Amino acid sequence: MGCSCPHDPAAAAERHPCYSADAQHKFARIHLPVAPACNISCNYCSRKYDCVNESRPGVTSEVLSPAAAGDKFALVREKVANLSVVGIAGPGDALANWPRTRETLERVRAIDPEIIFCLSTNGLMLPEYAREIIDLGVRHVTVTVNCVDPDIGAAIYRHVAYKGETYTGRAGAELLLSRQLAGIAALTAGGVLVKVNIVMIGGVNDRHIPAVVKTVKDLGVFVTNIMPMIPAPGSAFEYLPQTSMKEVAAMRDLCQQDIRQMRHCRQCRADAIGLLAEDRSAEFSRGCRAESA
Ligand code: SF4
Ligand code: SF4
Repeated sequence: MGCSCPHDPAAAAERHPCYSADAQHKFARIHLPVAPACNISCNYCSRKYDCVNESRPGVTSEVLSPAAAGDKFALVREKVANLSVVGIAGPGDALANWPRTRETLERVRAIDPEIIFCLSTNGLMLPEYAREIIDLGVRHVTVTVNCVDPDIGAAIYRHVAYKGETYTGRAGAELLLSRQLAGIAALTAGGVLVKVNIVMIGGVNDRHIPAVVKTVKDLGVFVTNIMPMIPAPGSAFEYLPQTSMKEVAAMRDLCQQDIRQMRHCRQCRADAIGLLAEDRSAEFSRGCRAESA
């Protein structure tokens, strides 16, 4: 029998509701919304603090300080059965807020040595932080890679901010894509199970997705999660049509030939709590606010 400690990625995948379709019915996750800032601008993104029970990535009722996030985790683990995963999934980027993300994970680890850590990132800062991520015991990381062609990236990313400079167009995309791929390689070499999210945007990157999948497969990625683009109000892609689940399913079927496909993603909020099929975030929220200390 193999090791079932949280540091064995394959065993941990069986307790991670996003990495295992079976686990989604048995194990719960909590997203701690401690990461408000982002270092890039995706044309489909609109982040906001939400009081209207909206469910999609980037939405949260509140942003927590690391101390408040630790307290919330301690409360939720007493009340939610089979809580196996703590994720940092925004509402911005986990690594653009690295000191906050790291402190949150340290606080959680002090409370629960067994909990599985999961991070979600656009990957820009991965080459800088991959070593620290691995050393902290994070064995599940999701990187959103929407393209591997900078010309397509120029249509998806408005800007990329890196080391005090802002890059736009092809230059910004080129910088982001090269760092995403280098970061993924560093993680997989360190034993991390990497999931790659791909937002499928009709007429922008949809035909290019098989090339993305093949590229990340060669880097040792565990699974890809092709998701429909949700045209968020206020985003640059607001008036593009939402990608249909029929189109997404057909693309997953095609890409399944290369790599395993996640088919049960719920495109959760940045403060989601519970099983994937339920969201108990409202039960534990203290209302709509920018920062809770
Ligand atoms: Fe929004 Fe995430 Fe893109 Fe940042 S990386 S702009 S938070 S979708
Ligand atoms: Fe899992 Fe998808 Fe929800 Fe992330 S958004 S926690 S991958 S189901």
